[in-house]
Amino acid sequence: MAEIISGTELRSAILDELRTEVAAMRAEHGIVPGLVTILVGENPASVSYVSLKVRTALELGFHEVQDNQPADISEADLLALIARYNADPAIHGILVQLPLPPHIDETKVINAIDPDKDVDGFHPVNLGRLLIGDERFPPCTPAGIREMLIRSGTPIAGAEVVVVGRSNIVGKPIAVMLGQKGTDATVTLVHTRTKDLAGHCRRADILIVAAGVPGLVRPEWIKPGATVIDVGVNRIGFNEKTGKPMLSGDVAFAEACKVAGKITPVPGGVGPMTIAMLMKNTVLSAKWHLATNR
Ligand code: NAP
Repeated sequence: MAEIISGTELRSAILDELRTEVAAMRAEHGIVPGLVTILVGENPASVSYVSLKVRTALELGFHEVQDNQPADISEADLLALIARYNADPAIHGILVQLPLPPHIDETKVINAIDPDKDVDGFHPVNLGRLLIGDERFPPCTPAGIREMLIRSGTPIAGAEVVVVGRSNIVGKPIAVMLGQKGTDATVTLVHTRTKDLAGHCRRADILIVAAGVPGLVRPEWIKPGATVIDVGVNRIGFNEKTGKPMLSGDVAFAEACKVAGKITPVPGGVGPMTIAMLMKNTVLSAKWHLATNR
């Protein structure tokens, strides 16, 4: 049976490390990382993501500003708010929770964030830096995936990696990150137009699946002993007793466990790592601002 890579356990180890770093920063320099979380409207999923981020930041001892704005805030006012946080020296990380209401252009908003405070790693400048191997803030979900591979002892250099899905927030950046010099995987990126998807997956020493299709990857698509990272988070119904949504990944988990060497569960896998990496990027940003006196 596959070894389970627990994102919940790894998150807690990473947060412990960050707590120590924050305490040292406060003791040595009298500053702590500052994170603003901007939430527009009251989309229930966004409210719950933001409150988890705020809680985690506060637990780590960050200076945390939760800035909730009404759903009808104008695009101009939101851009002005971002400009204010760009100029605020106590803020090292600016997070705008997506999605935004339809009257606001998300690209304009992402582009308005100072790339040196873009702890989500979505700004084109940071994606460009990632591409040329000058990483500043890796996007949080791919960063979490890489961290899971490293901390689970999965060999990456020379490994055949297959990434299913080519989104800007997961598939493309993780493909770039693992193929970078120094990390040295051989990466194949597959999608809906790929011929013989199963054949590609079967070659993978590391199979990363971010398609948003529950149960897409069948056990016969997995090379025996491979490491499988399931990024998918799909609602497949509601628990009758608790009323809470039931989640499934993109991999047929129970059967895949019989073939894979290591595998991440859903929930409790990549999801918890994403928040840990957001916190890590904010600490990185605070350190960078401290070192460059900006
Ligand atoms: P996305 O924008 O939803 O796009 C899905 C990608 O998968 C596309 O590139 C699509 O190919 C490909 N795809 C879809 N069905 C496929 C199929 N049958 N065969 C091959 N490729 C297929 O991607 P995303 O935003 O990265 O989200 C993917 C999943 O990850 C979702 O379940 C999302 O909820 C989850 N997610 C989880 C986290 C986390 O923190 N755990 C973070 C982000 C996303 P085409 O380009 O050809 O259309």
